[in-house]
Amino acid sequence: MWKNMGLTGKILVAMALGILLGLFLNYSGLHTEGSFVNTYLINGLFGIIGKLFVNSLKMLVVPLVLISLICGVCGIGDIRLLGRIGTKTFFMYMLTTALAIATAIGLGSLFGIGQGMNIPSDATFEAKSAPPLSEVFANIIPSNPISAMANGDMLSIIFFALLIGISILMVGKPAKGLVQSLELINEVILKMVTIIMNLAPYGVFALLTVAMADLGLELIQKLVGYTLVLVGSLAFHFFVTMMIILKLFSGLSIKTFLAKMREVQIFAFSTASSNATIPVTLRTVTKRMGVNNSVASFTIPFGATINMDGTAIMQGTATIFIANLYGIDLGITEYLTVILMSVLASIGTAGVPGVGLIMLSMVFAQVGLPIEGIGLILGVDRLLDMLRTAVNVGGDAAVTAIIAKSEGKMDVSIYNDPDAGTKDVFEGHIDPDNEREFSHVLNDGIMGSEYDDLDNIGRHHKP
Ligand code: ASP
Repeated sequence: MWKNMGLTGKILVAMALGILLGLFLNYSGLHTEGSFVNTYLINGLFGIIGKLFVNSLKMLVVPLVLISLICGVCGIGDIRLLGRIGTKTFFMYMLTTALAIATAIGLGSLFGIGQGMNIPSDATFEAKSAPPLSEVFANIIPSNPISAMANGDMLSIIFFALLIGISILMVGKPAKGLVQSLELINEVILKMVTIIMNLAPYGVFALLTVAMADLGLELIQKLVGYTLVLVGSLAFHFFVTMMIILKLFSGLSIKTFLAKMREVQIFAFSTASSNATIPVTLRTVTKRMGVNNSVASFTIPFGATINMDGTAIMQGTATIFIANLYGIDLGITEYLTVILMSVLASIGTAGVPGVGLIMLSMVFAQVGLPIEGIGLILGVDRLLDMLRTAVNVGGDAAVTAIIAKSEGKMDVSIYNDPDAGTKDVFEGHIDPDNEREFSHVLNDGIMGSEYDDLDNIGRHHKP
């Protein structure tokens, strides 16, 4: 049965099994510190498989963003159009983030979360500082692009790639060979993404087993009001607000969007990192939704860094929760400050696990809420981080689809084809000489051409 299942089905099963096994290990008490299960299974086998999987995704982020964005700029070919797409995307990201946090503040206030609760006195939280916004802006231009790439500084990498792309356009015709080579490299990296996606069921299973075994669900029971309002706001924002925006601005089918996003969101959920999910998001919007690389190569990495609707929702909910808990009255000015701070904080921080809490401490400092209050929600945050990351990447993809559609940079027939991108065949052109030389490899593939078919992995039989 497993062999005949499609990749999405396998990932879903792996996710469910991982959650169940993790919860079993947690509740059975087998996971206790120093036990065999904890040392050799959770931190050993599953821990290593999970880490290998996340590393293999992260490994592709920087080369993929750099190369695909250079190709994207060359594909657009018009610097003014690039400026227009950039501006539109930026405003759309800011708008959706502001809407997200407003939803959270609205629902949080409506349910009065945290009112009348007792404050445990042992709450502590060491605030790590986020880079000041002035520094974030100054560092957009990297003094050393190699170190920016080594550190994964996304905004610097985006800037460097844009500049290379624009310069290639200015060189013009003589750079044609270079562009073709870069496009080939881009295809090769996307093929690497395909290979890694085929390993996702194992990676997702391991990651979720470890997360659930470590965390369990008891913590959630203690903060049930906070968790429910947060999860409700996340669901409302993604399934209602964002889908209305998608329909209104693009007219695209919501059902198709949600179906094609499933894999991406499971990746985001398992890794709790928008950044590590970039390769999968980029592949999905281009190959499965028909968005032209010239738009997606910019909007996806940009969104992973500056657009965090789920994180903004957590900040809104946490603000209301902690303010009520400490009996602090927030006025309209404070609420507006929270919205503004959350939006600004999201610009300067990368989409990696746990960064939302750093942003939250900036927000708290600004409106005068006790930073140590963050200690109270720390326990449940790992789990909620996974959920909000799925909403973060959902927002990036929805805005990408809207911008691409509005600019005529989307192939709607690909979007509407349920199987698009599941059979990952190279469509570019290869020099005839090379074609002859590599013909045996190109015809058969390294492991046979069926290997390209995402849904056929495991069904590889050569007669
Ligand atoms: N983990 C989130 C992301 O990668 C950020 C956060 O909310 O902590 O998008």
